[in-house]
Amino acid sequence: MNSYGSLIRHSGNRELFLFLEMAILSQRGGCPLHFHVEGLRGTGKTTIIRAARDILPPIERIRGCLYNCDPREPHCPQHCHLSAEEIDALGRELVPMPFLEISASAKVGTVVGTIDLMRMTDPNHPEAALLPGTIPQAHRGIVFVDEINRLADTSPELADVLLSVMGTKPGRLQIEESGLPQLEIPVQVSVWAASNPDEDPGSLEDIRRQLSDRFDFLLEMGRPDSPEIVAAVLARNSGAGGKNPPAEEGSMGQRFAKWATLLPQIEMDAEIRAIVASLYTKFNLESLRAVEALQYGTKVYLARQGGQRIRVQDLLAVAPAVLRHRVEPDRLVEILQYLRGLSQRAEKQTAAAAAVAAEGVEGAREGAAAAPGEVQGKVGFWQRLREYMSRQLEGIFPSRRGQRRRRPGGGGGAGGKKEDGGGGPGQSQPANPAQTSVLAPPHQARPLFEIAAQGSVFPKTEEGERGPNE
Ligand SMILES: [Zn+2]
Repeated sequence: MNSYGSLIRHSGNRELFLFLEMAILSQRGGCPLHFHVEGLRGTGKTTIIRAARDILPPIERIRGCLYNCDPREPHCPQHCHLSAEEIDALGRELVPMPFLEISASAKVGTVVGTIDLMRMTDPNHPEAALLPGTIPQAHRGIVFVDEINRLADTSPELADVLLSVMGTKPGRLQIEESGLPQLEIPVQVSVWAASNPDEDPGSLEDIRRQLSDRFDFLLEMGRPDSPEIVAAVLARNSGAGGKNPPAEEGSMGQRFAKWATLLPQIEMDAEIRAIVASLYTKFNLESLRAVEALQYGTKVYLARQGGQRIRVQDLLAVAPAVLRHRVEPDRLVEILQYLRGLSQRAEKQTAAAAAVAAEGVEGAREGAAAAPGEVQGKVGFWQRLREYMSRQLEGIFPSRRGQRRRRPGGGGGAGGKKEDGGGGPGQSQPANPAQTSVLAPPHQARPLFEIAAQGSVFPKTEEGERGPNE
């Protein structure tokens, strides 16, 4: 049996692990995320998805409710009219988060709901009642549809059901049966789907574009990228005891609990939201769902990463899965390049700000070491320029280090002989700035080589420019 923690992760399947955990985290918080993973047969999509049952957190429901009624928000026909006291009297129970599957050959009745034949044929108390199908029974949990491209091709009615379940969050479901009143209930189900677009009948996007767009994320499942990974998979599958990585199920519950506390705290600031919104108009995206999925998906991603403040690089981590099935490949490349440019610019600004903060008044050398990338190159340039200028000044004024400073025009030479920096009338030599003290408000002038590189750049304030040492 493949336990979730024993599955081997590699660059080809890492995206599925990540988004699967994001979907569980989001569903735990009450908002279903839907993903569709495409990949070749035999790459392990279904194995990973089914193994996720090991890490599903429990949910609390009204005892015995087939619709998984939340005791705080009962929604099923049996419990939605009950008072809190009546619900308390029925009792509560913890059950594993539902994980149910819909096959490509499923019937609408078993997926949506049908007449309950057991109750109808009960010899003691026969009555006509509805038996909820797979989707209402998976309320607050997961529904997995393997080979969704086949389902969309052979069963357009089931595809319609999925469209209404995934159309809003939570979705809606209508259960109709002749002779019984029609029932419409909210369903909060996270739909996970898998398919191989290279097999008949082709990709879901080509078969039912509208259904494809309902998925928040399209994931790509890749093959293992090295013989070592394949060897590790073979060793694990051959039952080589003790070689498996330690199972993580126990700790996953704690991680989900920690991430779930972070999720409501994560806010998208106006600057990042403006970038997300600009993608819609700038790149002429067809569906608003794309930017909605990017906004909410990035929040869940950041909570899953244990972060707090959304940056452009977080958008970049989620954007490919959000846009793959919604834009042409060349447009996707353009969008990712655009975001990458914004991310690099933001990183440079952050690094420059950090370097200025670290620089202080003392030398640029430490700041240069701390500043990465291009900023470091610029600091290096300033460092070289200062050293060059120092050498030039040394050549022009070789004795400057040993001389005492004096005020310009002070005429304070000890002897009668005039010194070169005096600036007296008739002097042909230029004044030496290194030996010149200028009392010019608000700041004393200083030689260039004494000013730190970053110290020569400072923000403007309302009062005007600030001095380098303020
Ligand atoms: Zn109920």
